[in-house]
Amino acid sequence: MAVEAEAKRVAAEFELTDDGVRNTVAEFVAEMKAGLAKDGTSMSQIPTYVTGVPNGTEKGLYLAVDLGGTNFRVCSIQLNGDTTFNLVQSKVAIPRELMVAQTAKELFAFLAKQIETFLRQHHNDHFEKHLRRRATVSTPEGYRDEHVFRLGFTFSFPVKQVGINRGNLIRWTKGFNIPDAVGKDVCQLLQTEIDLLKLPVKVAALVNDTVGTLMARSYTSPGKTSTLLGAIFGTGTNGAYVEQLSKITKPMIGDYDKTTGEMVVNTEWGSFDNALKVLPNTEYDAKLDRDSVNPGIQMFEKRISGMFLGEILRIALVALMNKPDVPLFRDDNSSHNDYHSTTTIDETSPLHTQWAVDSSILSIAEADKSVGLRALRQQIEKNLGVSAASIEDAAAVKEIAHAIAVRAARLSGAAVAAIVIHTGRLNPEASSVPQPKSTAAIKEDILKGNLAEAASATANKLADTAGLSVNEEEIVDVGVDGSLVEFYPGFEDYMREAMRAVPEIGAAGERRIRIGIAKDGSGVGAALIALVAAKMEQNNDYAGDLMQRLESVGETSENVIEDEK
Ligand code: ADP
Ligand code: MG
Repeated sequence: MAVEAEAKRVAAEFELTDDGVRNTVAEFVAEMKAGLAKDGTSMSQIPTYVTGVPNGTEKGLYLAVDLGGTNFRVCSIQLNGDTTFNLVQSKVAIPRELMVAQTAKELFAFLAKQIETFLRQHHNDHFEKHLRRRATVSTPEGYRDEHVFRLGFTFSFPVKQVGINRGNLIRWTKGFNIPDAVGKDVCQLLQTEIDLLKLPVKVAALVNDTVGTLMARSYTSPGKTSTLLGAIFGTGTNGAYVEQLSKITKPMIGDYDKTTGEMVVNTEWGSFDNALKVLPNTEYDAKLDRDSVNPGIQMFEKRISGMFLGEILRIALVALMNKPDVPLFRDDNSSHNDYHSTTTIDETSPLHTQWAVDSSILSIAEADKSVGLRALRQQIEKNLGVSAASIEDAAAVKEIAHAIAVRAARLSGAAVAAIVIHTGRLNPEASSVPQPKSTAAIKEDILKGNLAEAASATANKLADTAGLSVNEEEIVDVGVDGSLVEFYPGFEDYMREAMRAVPEIGAAGERRIRIGIAKDGSGVGAALIALVAAKMEQNNDYAGDLMQRLESVGETSENVIEDEK
């Protein structure tokens, strides 16, 4: 009984009331605004130089590479123009010695070599054609762009972005250390090595994984509604959303396309409310933070993401175990314990080691609805190193784990709510889809050079013709990725409960928010950003391409558009 009462007491400490959610949303909106106005704020609100999101009608073959902590992934993505894509990929482990190479060149030459191997293996015809052209055309201007792959580069280290394909490395993390590269433009470093190998590849875009998620979701989401927000709930948490250019008032250097009036902003919301003005702060949160490598930083993330939830649970359980009067994991021979043996905590139990408890146990605890909690008790043995835990023990773990996860989901819901409110997407004027323009009007735009306008009008027309168009003005689309949101049972439902508690959203608004998993964000998303970038760089070619597409649609045609190749 004592265990149950104590577990309930600890769980209650994690409760985030509806008022708590509303305060979080208000502060979140305020910090979003602050970050748009100046540098050095709690939420960085980083402009990404990505000035449009796809709607599913985009086509073409693109390359994407992803330099994460351990692997280098190369993939090619064929966008089919009907919200579907085909993806081919290869993955290699980055050799340890290159992570700490003397010069940046050693690492980037290795990366370029992997791209070459991939092209030869999967796109040899394309590659050969390019080589023949090179042999026959004498001036650089003579190359036809269509044989040059546009590449999106997902680079998961801190960079100061200064253009859609320009960004200087701020510092290495995750075990990399090549001082020579710090301060240099990582896209240029890669392009130089690609050029030395004479590969038909242009590094067109530098990509952050949240932006990739937003783009991938916007392409794959049903219908032609463009996605508002891409959010990650995995090891860490972060979000990127579509902002009005006019609201980004802090200085932005470098070139970008101003015609869309929009830009994707990477919020870096993991650092929301580092000052703890509104965030809940239990003794367990405080301990986690104190013992972390970066106390006082990433405070929102430390209450939400996969890297931390298992550790919060561990700290809370240890606090209970340390209370002499609470018999957690101390059953002598309980009649409820079907092994009839004494509960023992291994000396090497992860409960004794910082960061050793994986967050997946929260999902297992939530999923186990059986009376005997057998699955959870097995997991307690395997992941917590406690053998023969009693049903009461397991129930206590379940109660506390549930409270930790629900709080995480409600805080996540508050972040989504704040972005929906700040962008005004729920009010009808802002969300209505324009009527399709006439072909003549679009042609006029093209001739006048209003290419961005013409591009979106053409996209709408193509979507109509392809039968993708549904009356979707009412929907606000959100793309999510990460193991936590994907695997924790009911995570989205708890997010939604929190959103309903916010008066500006309410039950009616919450129903209009569509949340969908965006798979392969770093592949498809990067390809789409490369596409957007390529459109910007070759406006002239693109005008021709648009004209051609328009001809194929006609004013009343019902035909589905053929691939332009
Ligand atoms: P990444 O963030 O590296 O892209 P993931 O999205 O897979 O990778 O997230 C990994 C994180 O999610 C880890 O912190 C892990 O502990 C946590 N995690 C993995 N599986 C689950 C699960 N079933 N339930 C809750 N958390 C999980
Ligand atoms: Mg991920």
